[in-house]
Amino acid sequence: MVKAIVGANWGDEGKGKITDMMAQEADIVVRFQGGANAGHTIVNNYGKFALHTLPSGVFYGHTTSVIGNGVALDIPKLIRELKSIVERNVPQPKILVSDRAQIVMPYHILFDQYEEERLGGKSFGSTKSGIAPFYSDKYAKIGFQVSELFDEELLREKVERTCQLKNVLLEHLYHKPLIDPAQLLEILHEYRDMIAPYVGDVSAFLDKALKEGKTVLLEGQLGTLKDPDHGIYPMVTSSSTLAAYGAIGAGVPPYEIQQIVTVCKAYSSAVGAGAFVSELSGDQAEELRRRGGDGGEYGATTGRPRRVGWFDCVASRYGCRLQGTTDVAFTVLDVLGYLDEIPVCVGYEIDGEVTADFPVTSRLNRAKPVLEKLPGWKCDIRGIRNYGDLPENCRRYIEFIESRIGYPITMVSNGPGRDDIIYRESALKA
Ligand code: GDP
Repeated sequence: MVKAIVGANWGDEGKGKITDMMAQEADIVVRFQGGANAGHTIVNNYGKFALHTLPSGVFYGHTTSVIGNGVALDIPKLIRELKSIVERNVPQPKILVSDRAQIVMPYHILFDQYEEERLGGKSFGSTKSGIAPFYSDKYAKIGFQVSELFDEELLREKVERTCQLKNVLLEHLYHKPLIDPAQLLEILHEYRDMIAPYVGDVSAFLDKALKEGKTVLLEGQLGTLKDPDHGIYPMVTSSSTLAAYGAIGAGVPPYEIQQIVTVCKAYSSAVGAGAFVSELSGDQAEELRRRGGDGGEYGATTGRPRRVGWFDCVASRYGCRLQGTTDVAFTVLDVLGYLDEIPVCVGYEIDGEVTADFPVTSRLNRAKPVLEKLPGWKCDIRGIRNYGDLPENCRRYIEFIESRIGYPITMVSNGPGRDDIIYRESALKA
């Protein structure tokens, strides 16, 4: 059976921790979209790790970690990340990289930077990891599949052809140094040798595994609001962040995805630009940012301070709906223990009308939050393992949010570690 772990919001909801935890009882963990532009932070018995490309199952001997065809594969980054965890005494993980995954080329990273420079103040807040140029080329059918690294004739011809095209832009649009095809070919040979030990037919591997009754986790990056179709376009990422895309980006039948765990953080955070209706500013923001996550709300990849705000029921209900949520994992709840009362965004006011439906971006940009205040619980809830042992106001907060988003909260995370989890029976059915 296949289970997906995805985000309801802007990303950074704590998917890495939930994946690491659920990987204890899984055989295979697959990354199916995105690239090394975002990260997961995982705290386990080997220490604290920020993963960008490797699936969050790499810390277990019993799991195979898979890079699916939907991923933007940055080969040197993957190899560096693998080396960095092995150096910290994590046993060499079993890795399988799809022969159909496409490669982030050195020029994708440069084009990402050049385009941000060109756009100046109108930029999309890219992390400059090459992701947007990568996916543009994939769909323009000028991307490089991993399998193509192993066909020298094809590779040589394609490198020549691509350089011609890219060099026109470099010369006339960006006024930057041109790409030398011979040098690029050499780099791709290095990439080929680095990745060769890990390459295989991922969809065939997963098909066999599913027939043998194995459990496969699909690990999403970012969240619904960053989806290019259903998110806050154009301030989105370039590949779909939805569980449904897991079927495509891993190569499994859609009906195999039987559990969809949507991760929601107990307050909101976002990195990069774009509408964020319940965003806080000033001292309140600074305090939540400092206390948030595990050691503050700062991007795992970029170190950028995250924007923070109150929990947004409108965005999260929409985020859960588009994911096809069967279970909500409600995370980082322990952080809110300092507040006397906790505002929650329950509606958006747009042009004088209040709605609980998440709007298209042009309307979203005019939305103001409608807040409702709930009493805080004023204590540390870390270490609690039974739902009934949580303070009453804390349970009230969880149940209020559950009723507003309309999807069952079956897991509550009250600390960054694997064991900081409370399972809960919900009266709601997905
Ligand atoms: P992801 O991209 O969705 O995996 O999220 P990140 O890893 O970027 O951000 C989640 C942060 O919160 C990480 O620093 C985690 O270690 C931390 N975290 C996850 N769950 C909890 C929790 O329940 N409580 C606290 N305090 N931190 C958590």
